[in-house]
Amino acid sequence: MKKIEKILIANRGEIACRVMRTCRMLGIATVAVYSEADAAALHVEMADEAVLIGPAPARESYLDTAKILAAAQQTGADAIHPGYGFLSENAGFAEAVVKAGLVFIGPPASAIRAMGGKSESKMLMEKAKVPLVPGYHGEKQDEKLLKAEAEKIGYPVLIKASAGGGGKGMRVVESAKEFSEALAGAQREAKSSFGNEKVLIEKYLVNPRHVEIQVFADQKGNAVYLFERDCSVQRRHQKVLEEAPAPGLSQATREKMGKAAVAAALAIDYVGAGTVEFLLDAKENFYFMEMNTRLQVEHPVTEMITGLDLVEWQIRVAEGEKLPLAQKDLKINGHAFEARLYAEDPSRDFLPGAGQIGFLRYPMESAQDDHQVVRVDTGVREAPFGDGDVISIYYDPMIAKIISWGKDRAAALKNMQDALDNTYIAGPKTNINFLRALTKNKDFAAGKVNTHFIADHHDALLPEKSAPANETLALAALGILTERGERISDDPWGDLSSWRIGGGAADTFTFKSGEKEYPIVISYPDLQITLPDGETLRADYAGSSFDRGFAAQLDGKRYDAVVYRDGLHAHVMYAGHNEELVYLDPLHAGEGDEETSGRLTAPMPGKVVAVRVKAGAKVTKGQALVIVEAMKMEHTITAPVDGVVAAVNANVGDQVSEKHELIALK
Ligand code: ADP
Repeated sequence: MKKIEKILIANRGEIACRVMRTCRMLGIATVAVYSEADAAALHVEMADEAVLIGPAPARESYLDTAKILAAAQQTGADAIHPGYGFLSENAGFAEAVVKAGLVFIGPPASAIRAMGGKSESKMLMEKAKVPLVPGYHGEKQDEKLLKAEAEKIGYPVLIKASAGGGGKGMRVVESAKEFSEALAGAQREAKSSFGNEKVLIEKYLVNPRHVEIQVFADQKGNAVYLFERDCSVQRRHQKVLEEAPAPGLSQATREKMGKAAVAAALAIDYVGAGTVEFLLDAKENFYFMEMNTRLQVEHPVTEMITGLDLVEWQIRVAEGEKLPLAQKDLKINGHAFEARLYAEDPSRDFLPGAGQIGFLRYPMESAQDDHQVVRVDTGVREAPFGDGDVISIYYDPMIAKIISWGKDRAAALKNMQDALDNTYIAGPKTNINFLRALTKNKDFAAGKVNTHFIADHHDALLPEKSAPANETLALAALGILTERGERISDDPWGDLSSWRIGGGAADTFTFKSGEKEYPIVISYPDLQITLPDGETLRADYAGSSFDRGFAAQLDGKRYDAVVYRDGLHAHVMYAGHNEELVYLDPLHAGEGDEETSGRLTAPMPGKVVAVRVKAGAKVTKGQALVIVEAMKMEHTITAPVDGVVAAVNANVGDQVSEKHELIALK
């Protein structure tokens, strides 16, 4: 048994920071690697040593085996932790690490290879008698054969990239006439994301749940399961909110799934942390989907209900130790949730976003009776001085994971709701309001989850933008007032109003939301606020609140608020609220919205992969016009209205910047 003394983490962001947390606790030194885009990143700051490994594109840095091994050699690291994503499931990398005389904190290359392809792993599991979704996962890939297989399975079917992950290269096909187009799209995405066009086809199950089992194995042939996680709540076939244990799952099924997962791990001589993913139908029949041969993003919920540190287990197993606990010693304690805070725009089909963080405040981590109740895993912060971190287009747009625990599901959910209410963020568009709505949804609270939950509850979770609440408008106006007053003294509103004696007796602050304008009048010196609907509120300054915020009493009720200004946009944030208004600043009159209709622009920097129309073409609302690939996903630009194409300013292969005009419509 060889003690590991220094670990290089071949990753970035929240997972790199997460691994370092455990290393610190165990007294293990850490080495970070980073790209030029990450020079000021938290994971670099946290590490004992850090090595620059190349430019921003992952191919030239985080995916470059030679550079990572050189960094390990140079710093004298004795082990490499791959995190998840990047090289974590790359058998060649695992092999190269071992060949370089280092410990790979993960399974042997042979196990990664066995589970590497979704197709190959299914063949293997078929042999091990683990139940599979009906489908085709063979070698032959010509379109005619694939289409015939789809007919055989019966529509709807799902096309998946065999080398896939992250929901990329996946297409649901409802009928034969959509097949060819969907196949081409899946293959294109598979090629660009994984360098491999191979696909498989399976029956698309109706409203299944995604339930996965955490397994752990040591080098001595022992394996256990650490129960399940329900990851059914998904958008774009990707998880956004996970929980453990799975609500309503019977103990008998839990055990059956656990045993099937352990059997899967043993069948490939697995070592370390792994996850066996299943789809579960309403009758608790379960079907193997794939095995992830690494630590998962959502591992914290398992840690919360078992009280274990999975990274510590990974390290111990890599050192050659026996599993710390046997199956009979493992117990579920309480319930846990994880919500993933992403830079994305839920109102535009969760389009991934990027940009600089303007304001960021996470909920406080807390504990109750020795059990952690709220935990925040992140690699993104607001720099204490100057500019915040940037969510880069080069990497995954996840900002943080908010994790909660409670003695039962209801308690854990309440803790999650509070934690999300106390998460303040401004900058790129995020899913914070969506997560709040999700965790407050009645059906969600009742545990009625399946993979269509978000689609089925679309209107409740993504309501049409409504008029801002009166307190939002009042706080917005007070925020602007504070901004002005701060330059004067400690009691910005009071001094401001007395300072004005002889000047005007009132100010009007006008905000815009959607198409409507909302004028708010503040009269001095009593700070009476008159709202557009005639309601009046009396405001009192209750001190400066947390960083850059202020506390206000509105008719005696206390609010801790932040109004973060980004040009004309005012982000109004207070417990449970996060709203973006446009401030019609009299000093910047005339600067309205830049949106002009008829111009269809690139949603983010990317590459044009298909142009479907020519100038002069008649198009109908919803018709696909251009496809742009960005952040490894395809985004289809569709016609917002019926019209005629006036101009096409994009060619296949073009690299376009955000807001680049692709199509002009008449
Ligand atoms: P990836 O590895 O790209 O994340 P997965 O194979 O893990 O893709 O599938 C992601 C999600 O897609 C699943 O959690 C589930 O919601 C959905 N899904 C996958 N296969 C099926 C299927 N056969 N029927 C219905 N939904 C499916």
